[in-house]
Amino acid sequence: MTIIGRVRLVAAVLLVALVPTAVAIVWLSNHASTFLAEMQVQRQVIEHATAVERAVIDAETGQRGYLISRLPAYQQEYQRADKRAVAAMAELVRLKQALPIRRREIDAVLGPAAGQLAMLRRLGSGNVEAARSLVATQEGRFETEQLRSAVLNLTNEQRQVLDEDGQSLALLLNVSQWFALAGIGTGAVAVLALLFLLTGSLRRSLLPLLAAMRTKDASGIPDDVTGEMIGEVKDVAKAYNAMCERMRQAMERREDAERRISELLDHADHELAGRQHTSAILARISNRLPACLDQRELVTLATRFIPQLFDIGGGALYFLNNSSTVLSRVAQWGECTSSAPEFAPTRCWALRRGQQHHVADVSTDVTCDHLTADALNGYVCLPLIAQGETVGLLYLEESAATAARSDARPALDDMRVLCENLALALVNLRLRESLRHQSLRDPLTGLHNRRYLDETIELEFAKSRRSKQPVSVIMADIDHFKHVNDHYGHDIGDLVLRGVAETLGANIRKGDIACRFGGEEFVLLLPGLTHGEAVERAQLVRDQIRLLQLHSDGKDLPQVTSSFGVATFTGDETTAEDVLREADQALYGAKRAGRDRVHSGTTIDSEAATPQSTASLASDHSDQAMEMHA
Ligand code: GH3
Ligand code: MG
Ligand code: MG
Repeated sequence: MTIIGRVRLVAAVLLVALVPTAVAIVWLSNHASTFLAEMQVQRQVIEHATAVERAVIDAETGQRGYLISRLPAYQQEYQRADKRAVAAMAELVRLKQALPIRRREIDAVLGPAAGQLAMLRRLGSGNVEAARSLVATQEGRFETEQLRSAVLNLTNEQRQVLDEDGQSLALLLNVSQWFALAGIGTGAVAVLALLFLLTGSLRRSLLPLLAAMRTKDASGIPDDVTGEMIGEVKDVAKAYNAMCERMRQAMERREDAERRISELLDHADHELAGRQHTSAILARISNRLPACLDQRELVTLATRFIPQLFDIGGGALYFLNNSSTVLSRVAQWGECTSSAPEFAPTRCWALRRGQQHHVADVSTDVTCDHLTADALNGYVCLPLIAQGETVGLLYLEESAATAARSDARPALDDMRVLCENLALALVNLRLRESLRHQSLRDPLTGLHNRRYLDETIELEFAKSRRSKQPVSVIMADIDHFKHVNDHYGHDIGDLVLRGVAETLGANIRKGDIACRFGGEEFVLLLPGLTHGEAVERAQLVRDQIRLLQLHSDGKDLPQVTSSFGVATFTGDETTAEDVLREADQALYGAKRAGRDRVHSGTTIDSEAATPQSTASLASDHSDQAMEMHA
């Protein structure tokens, strides 16, 4: 039962106990009032009956005294008593009408009283003597006695009734008192008992609530309330438990949010660290790229840093050739097996579109034609474009191991920055190489020019002084070249120049230098070659030039011959100019001697010495070819 219900029960019990008591008391009070009113009337009847008797006796005494003494005072007394008697009788008549009982007894008083008064009036109005005789005869005594007897009877009766009524009234008051005591007592006991029960159950219900409120778990949330409870306290406990549950859920949500924020912060930290790492590497690449001397250094740099930048599996770097027809793989790293070593630019979506081609899943996107393996996760092709010119391609592929790692996904922005830097560096490098090539190479023949020779010969002589190794110089001049120009035209002259230059370049070793000295004169700088070996080499070259067969418009051109002068630097104080002059003089000697021959600066006539010499030409043609290609 609820607390309010219990309080209502207490109130109801109190009402049940007190209302009948109150009704009974009211009823008893009404009865007592009635009794009191009746007793009042009884007492008035007694008073007035006694007053009638006394007034009649006083009237009789007064009348008798007057008749006997004729004293007016008696007569006055008589008259006053008569009036009192009449008034008292009138009251008795009134009371008789008000009372349902005692009429007969009142009449028994009124009758003798009226008769006595009438008799006394008659005495006063009649013959005095006759009246005296009546008085003397004690006439009227009988009525007086009758009156006295009737009054006595009436008052006795009335007193008896008054006693009975008094007893009844006392009884009623007693009963009322007991009713009041019983009602109030019962109500008080019931209320006390119920209040005791109510406070007991309230205490039993509130104690676990208070105990739960005072305890709390690690997170500061109070425990749930358990145990037997009553009414509203049970509702309060339920609401309290629900509030605790909401607090717990709020706490869980807060903890969850804090955990997620922490994870986000960790992720952000991780990303930031990754970004810093990436930025540091990009900065290092950017710092070093402009300082690369050649493409080989650029490739080494890319191979070293790109795997650090994108830990996604493997990759390869491709350079586009000068004619933009073939992409050649110049470097590769990691598990890169899925892209062809060489392919045409049109086989790559990235190069066709001029923008990166990122394929996250090869099963859901188009793939480039240069891919050679089907079992590939994802890849990205990034064109190397600078100043509107495509110079290469960066290819990155995801390995099976890194495909599952979201953090291993390459940041396309970083790639774009890297590719821009790489491409710019490559373009700059090519430009620089081109400029250098132009400044140090002869544009017609592709051989080094005289400027390059002037720079290099000093270096080689310096090295020679340290290493005590000889450096030989061969100076060559095409015979009667003016005639070629004059007879076939300058274009054919240029063709002959290129052919002779190619023969010279093809017959020197790696480290040897072939230069166009000017016009149709050439110089071969041969470090480490003794004079004799140099003469043999000149002889060989002379033979190769003689064998040169050139064509123009389908026609064979006449045989070309050249004259050679050889000089050797042997580490003494001789200068480069001295050695070149000596070679030139030897050449001049060869011309004078009839051309198509080798003359030595040391006056050795090589034609006689080694005309058919085929000294070893273990030269690395690929290097020379590469230089010419660049
Ligand atoms: P010799 O046998 O004595 O060397 O006679 P030569 O005709 O070869 O010598 P000369 O010095 O009289 O002639 C050299 C010619 O080479 C003169 C010049 O017109 C020509 N020449 C110089 N440079 C070039 C060039 O770049 N292209 C062409 N086609 N001719 C050139
Ligand atoms: Mg010449
Ligand atoms: Mg010449």
